[in-house]
Amino acid sequence: MAFLTFPARVAHSELVTPSVLRLAFRREDGGNLEFKPGQFVNIHFETEDGPTHRSYSIANPPGEGNFEIAVSPVEGGRATRLLFDLKPGNDVQVSGPYGRFVLRDDPPCRYVLVGTGTGITPFRAMLPQLRERLAAGQARVEILVGVRSREEFLFAEDFEQAARDHPGIRLHACYSRHMPRQPERWETPGYVQDLFPRLGLDPEQDIVYLCGNPNMVDAASAWLKQRDFPIKRIRREKYLSANA
Ligand SMILES: Cc1cc2nc3c(=O)[nH]c(=O)nc-3n(C[C@H](O)[C@H](O)[C@H](O)COP(=O)(O)OP(=O)(O)OC[C@H]3O[C@@H](n4cnc5c(N)ncnc54)[C@H](O)[C@@H]3O)c2cc1C
Repeated sequence: MAFLTFPARVAHSELVTPSVLRLAFRREDGGNLEFKPGQFVNIHFETEDGPTHRSYSIANPPGEGNFEIAVSPVEGGRATRLLFDLKPGNDVQVSGPYGRFVLRDDPPCRYVLVGTGTGITPFRAMLPQLRERLAAGQARVEILVGVRSREEFLFAEDFEQAARDHPGIRLHACYSRHMPRQPERWETPGYVQDLFPRLGLDPEQDIVYLCGNPNMVDAASAWLKQRDFPIKRIRREKYLSANA
C-alpha cells in the first residue's frame, strides 16, 4: 500500500470523553483513504523549528468515507494545541496509512487486544474484521481496556455492543483510579496487566496486541516473554511522544 500525502478537511469534531477529542476528516483531493484496521496516519504541521508531524491511530473501520482519530491532550503539546483548535472546514496535511499493527492471516486463535487510553482505537477499527473471523469460527477475542475511570472509556458503547452481539468477544474494562458504584460484570479495578493471570494466557493459542502507553506495552511484553510467549505472538504499538 503506497504512502500518500494529501489535504484532509475536518468534517466533525467533538469531545467523546471529558478530555479526548474525536476528529473526523475527509480527503480534500477527492480520494478515499485506503487503510487496514490498526494503521495510523501522520498529521503534518509547521513549528518555529520547521515542519514536523505526529502520529494518530485511525479509529474507525475502512470504507466509511471519513477517517477518524481520537486525540488525548498532552499539556503544552504542539499537536494537541493544533488539533484541539481545529474546526469543521479547516484543513490539515496528512500522510499514510502507516504501520503493521494489523490483523494478519493467522491460524485459528484467541486474540487478546490490550489498549490503554486512546490505545483502544485501533481495536475499534478492527471490530468488523473481528466479527468476520468470529463468524467463520477462526477466532475468539478478549478486549482489555485500561483507563482511570468509566468516564474515560472511549467508544465504550461500540465495544459493549460488540461483546453483547458476539459470545466470542469478551470485554474487560480496568479502572486504575475510580470504580463505578454499580459496576458491570466486565468492569474491574486495577491495571490491564492485573487481568493477565486470570485469562489463562497460552503462548500456543493466543496472539496478544498491545497498544498505547509505552510503560504498559513494555511491562506487558516483559510479562508475556517471561511466560514463553514467542515474539511473533506479541504485536505492539507504542504511543511514543516525538521527544521520547
Ligand atoms: C504510532 C503512534 C500512534 C499514536 N496514536 C495516537 C492516538 O491515536 N491518539 C493520541 O492521542 N496519541 C497518539 N500517539 C501520540 C501522538 O503522536 C503524540 O505524541 C501526542 O499527541 C503528543 O503530541 P504533542 O505534539 O501534543 O506533544 P509534544 O509537543 O510532542 O510534547 C509536549 C511535551 O509533553 C511530553 N509528552 C508527549 N506525549 C506525552 C504523553 N503521552 N504523556 C506525557 N507526556 C507526553 C513531551 O515529552 C513533551 O515534553 C501516537 C503515537 C505513535 C508513535
